Amino acid sequence: MRFFSRNHIFHRSYWDSKYSKGVAFLRSYARFRETKSQQGFTQKDYALRNAGWSMSMYLSRGAVHGYTDLIPSFSQPQEKKYVAPVEELTSAIRTAGKKLGIHEIGFTKTNHEFHYADKFDQYNPSRKLPPPKLEGLDNCIVIAVSVDYDPLKTTPSAITGVDAGGGYSLCTTQGLSLVDFIHGLGYNAILSLNDTALCIPYAIEAGLGEYGRNGLLINETYGPRFRIAKIFTDIPVTHDSPKKHGVEEFCNNCNNCSSSCPAKAIPDGPPSVNIHNISNIQGVKKWTVDAEKCYNFWLNINTECGICIRTCPFNKDLDKFWHRMYVKIIFNPLRKLKLYKTLLKIEKSIGFDKRVKPKKWWESETFKK
Ligand code: SF4
Ligand code: SF4
Repeated sequence: MRFFSRNHIFHRSYWDSKYSKGVAFLRSYARFRETKSQQGFTQKDYALRNAGWSMSMYLSRGAVHGYTDLIPSFSQPQEKKYVAPVEELTSAIRTAGKKLGIHEIGFTKTNHEFHYADKFDQYNPSRKLPPPKLEGLDNCIVIAVSVDYDPLKTTPSAITGVDAGGGYSLCTTQGLSLVDFIHGLGYNAILSLNDTALCIPYAIEAGLGEYGRNGLLINETYGPRFRIAKIFTDIPVTHDSPKKHGVEEFCNNCNNCSSSCPAKAIPDGPPSVNIHNISNIQGVKKWTVDAEKCYNFWLNINTECGICIRTCPFNKDLDKFWHRMYVKIIFNPLRKLKLYKTLLKIEKSIGFDKRVKPKKWWESETFKK
């Protein structure tokens, strides 16, 4: 059963009185009003958060977190088509995407089962709009941008938003650049962030990762720390297929995210078809995060949370030499031997899941310069 976009927990801010506080919350990503003296929630922290989100906000015309509209491109397809074997076109898009700063790219077919049953209008929430048809755009290119490790270590704090927002901003700017490349080859393409269709099922189909207990996609290289967008297109491409790298088995033996979630929104048990409320997708056997509990926590702290990313053992910083060594020497071998409990004890003793104090983060970043 297709999901109604109006039931997305953010969209409920605009029509469900239970979440009316959410309107000011979502608007604060364009202009914040409330700040505190508490570190992580000061004017400086919110200024950084909103700077991270700015390109995503401007280019998606203020649609918070890119949830409503397809992102309009600045270019049009060239009249003359570049005709080549499908393998060459696929490889050219992959190469162009990497050159443009996109970390992961996968290809799959457009599947309307993953699309919302409606289109939500935040300025007129009672308006019933059909979803975009995307006629002839039978292929979907899924792009992912990894985000910085350190800001997320400060969560809960407004600093975390520079990661989340920075990821969406890069998905928007670099996604539009990739759309321009496809237009240059003479084909149609349109960028979609969280509007129009669910990103995670598309990313799984395109081989970008596996679904985790925390309700996020876990990528083999970047773990849960990246943001996803998609490009619907008519350029012929070969399709990737879902890849398993042991996430489900790991999650069956780990509950770092569920035990650290302050809202108790993440399930402890096995995947199931049970849902918590209308903001959850129906009819899919999976771990389902209680979106209401999660969003209430965000509203309480007045910014996004990412504790379930910070505490996930797949969250490592591969830019750091000793993290790379750890993953090579300890994380992966113990995982392959299925020594999950030992591995989780080592993770805790090293303190990978620990929060970094926001003030300390600002100081360490200043020191890096
Ligand atoms: S974002 Fe925070 S509140 Fe929401 S599920 Fe993750 S840990 Fe829980
Ligand atoms: S914290 Fe553990 S259970 Fe949660 S998503 Fe990560 S590996 Fe899975």
